[in-house]
Amino acid sequence: MRDEGGLFAGVLPEEEPLCGLVAEVALDLPLDKPLSYLVPEHLVAQARPGLRVRVSVGRRAVTGFVLSVKQRAYRAPLKPVESALEAHPALTPATLELGLWMARHYGAAPGETLAALVPAAVRRGAGSRTEQQLAIADAARVEEYLRTHADRKSAAARVRILRQLLAASAPLGLAALLRASESTKSPVDTLLREGLLSAQAVTIARDPFALLRPERGVVPELNEDQARALEVLLPALEAPTSQGFLLHGVTGSGKTEVYLRLLERTLALGKGAILLIPEISLTPQTVERILGRLTGVAVLHSHLTDAERATEWQRLARGDARIAVGPRSALFAPVQKLGLIVIDEEHETTFKQQQSPRYHARNAACERARIENAMLVLGSATPSLEAESLARTGVIQRLSLPRRVRGRPLPEVHIVDMRSEHVVGQGGIFSRRLVVAIERTLAQKEQVLLFLNRRGFSTTVICRTCTWKATCRNCAIQLTHYRDDARLLCHHCGHESPAPRACPECRQPTLRFRGFGTERVAAAAASLFPSARIMRRDGDALRARGAPEELYNSLRDGKVDILIGTQVLAKGFDIPAITLVGVISADTALLIPEFRSAERTYQLLAQVSGRAGRGEQPGRVLVQTNMPEHFAIAAAARHDHEGFVRRELDARRVAGYPPTGHLLRIVVSAPDELLAREEAAAMARELKALPELGGGGTEILGPAPCPIAVLQGEHRQHILLRSNLSSTLTELLPLIRRKGARGTKILLDRDPVNLM
Ligand code: ADP
Ligand code: ZN
Ligand code: ZN
Repeated sequence: MRDEGGLFAGVLPEEEPLCGLVAEVALDLPLDKPLSYLVPEHLVAQARPGLRVRVSVGRRAVTGFVLSVKQRAYRAPLKPVESALEAHPALTPATLELGLWMARHYGAAPGETLAALVPAAVRRGAGSRTEQQLAIADAARVEEYLRTHADRKSAAARVRILRQLLAASAPLGLAALLRASESTKSPVDTLLREGLLSAQAVTIARDPFALLRPERGVVPELNEDQARALEVLLPALEAPTSQGFLLHGVTGSGKTEVYLRLLERTLALGKGAILLIPEISLTPQTVERILGRLTGVAVLHSHLTDAERATEWQRLARGDARIAVGPRSALFAPVQKLGLIVIDEEHETTFKQQQSPRYHARNAACERARIENAMLVLGSATPSLEAESLARTGVIQRLSLPRRVRGRPLPEVHIVDMRSEHVVGQGGIFSRRLVVAIERTLAQKEQVLLFLNRRGFSTTVICRTCTWKATCRNCAIQLTHYRDDARLLCHHCGHESPAPRACPECRQPTLRFRGFGTERVAAAAASLFPSARIMRRDGDALRARGAPEELYNSLRDGKVDILIGTQVLAKGFDIPAITLVGVISADTALLIPEFRSAERTYQLLAQVSGRAGRGEQPGRVLVQTNMPEHFAIAAAARHDHEGFVRRELDARRVAGYPPTGHLLRIVVSAPDELLAREEAAAMARELKALPELGGGGTEILGPAPCPIAVLQGEHRQHILLRSNLSSTLTELLPLIRRKGARGTKILLDRDPVNLM
């Protein structure tokens, strides 16, 4: 028997089993199984499932999560748990169970999955800081001291300090006290020594929303549709088992008001809730509205500093905050007594995480709701086909808000057929109809939103002499030209280079810049509407801290006439004065070779139309397209959700795609193309040999090059496993190799939202 620090090694006969308190620990390593460690005396009280601990593997120190703690017999000597990394478990029993489900469902290592559920800041223990607070220790002696020392020059600072504290009539933080009394720390120390002051260390939690103005507007009277939905939803909050709902309400129908009422009732019942919103909808507007109506809200958006995020997380863990609001990762917040999960804009693709664990928040939310017996509400104006399918099969119940609030009409949507329309100005960007509509809107002092889902100035840079094309040296992708910064940018890997003046290949000054993005739209608009105040905002510009606030304020204050941007603008913003929305091209999403491209197009058009006419004036939408007959475009123009869904569901059923079929995407990549191809072929052979593939309606598609065949220098091949049963994929996942041979990489993506 090797003595690896096992206390009894060699003392007891080998056959005799040892007995002790043993913790199963899921390590933050690519391992399928937890390892066992002994719980030492000093950790017995603390060791609980969900606790993060440090242990060693070989000579390496690793962190992991305790899964279980049991008094049991064991044979080989065990190493001890070295230390606990936190006083209280970062994961609740429910989020621990959820994490293990995710590891199984998405085929990720349990320990790594659990680690991904806890924000890095919380893992590092960032957050609250402690501060010394000072108070008068003995009022009578201070009075006396002031009388006897008031005129002494040498005691001037001490006197100022005591006067400040008397005036404040409450303890003051050290920093504030020094500032107010214009003093250094040493007189404070003197007063402490003399027993005139007392000090106490207190924990200061920073308030990340100190700058927001909670919106305490009037609470609107519910309309008939909202009241009818709540008649079903409110009782379900108290139901003994978990229930799911689809709140299908057109844009501006008052879904948020329904969420707010549900959240209020959840709090009144002494329970907690999670409200998931896409990151881009986490506008100050939404946050102010929620903060104005509810107390005990922790907002977890990406603009928080580490310390702020950790503070919010701890408030939830302690039960000081009961509601977590945030993007998909807020689903793992340590909300106590969870009663409700709401996913707003559930159709958004940002609810799917694009790195391991590649979970979809919709699926994971269903699971957390089941584990904690909580109610689940999926809300959208354009429900995903997955949610539609759940509603149609009765797994969740549909509640509809078919009208906008206050009897406002949905905007009229007009299709502009660019094949026959007269085009004004250069670049084929503006149809005459759109120009006329913009002029009229500007004349009425109303605001225009122009939308194009493509950034940059030109999307293709090509040499007329030698046909050289600007492509990324890392990816099989054309570079986008940004004229303002005179650079070429790859939208996939971020590679940047200065824009050339002449062709780098043949040296001729014959470069042509074709195709257009928002930058060129803005330039064209500036020459067509010279007196209009134009603002362009796309994803990058809006991700900066404070940027959404600034944009929102300039719109609200009427400082902008024409706002131009990409899809970030299609969502969340509620600007009453926007009465005209112009979609520069509806075709960008349709041209992407994916089975969801029709759904994306339909949703984008419906959402962007939803920005028009939210105030007193009715809204209009003009959609420019070369494919006016396409059913996704036609359905969006008619506000015909049912028609779109029925047709698209049929198409998916025929093709075996989700939501009918279930997909597992396997991407094999390598710096060398041949290697990637060979490894993908080997992978496909292994998959075909799996026993489960015999019966269960499962098939293998591929291998084939990914639509983006080279990304960041890696050649990529993919294989799709398609199954009629989701459970078959769960059975197959553990049998699939996750390590590539000869330095190739293998990536598993279950229920992918992106097949590029
Ligand atoms: P949605 O989330 O469905 O797009 P919102 O909940 O944001 O719609 O509501 C749009 C606007 O209508 C908000 O300004 C909201 O305060 C207001 N509103 C909501 N419900 C009502 C109601 N019953 N009566 C009047 N105004 C309402
Ligand atoms: Zn050339
Ligand atoms: Zn690139």
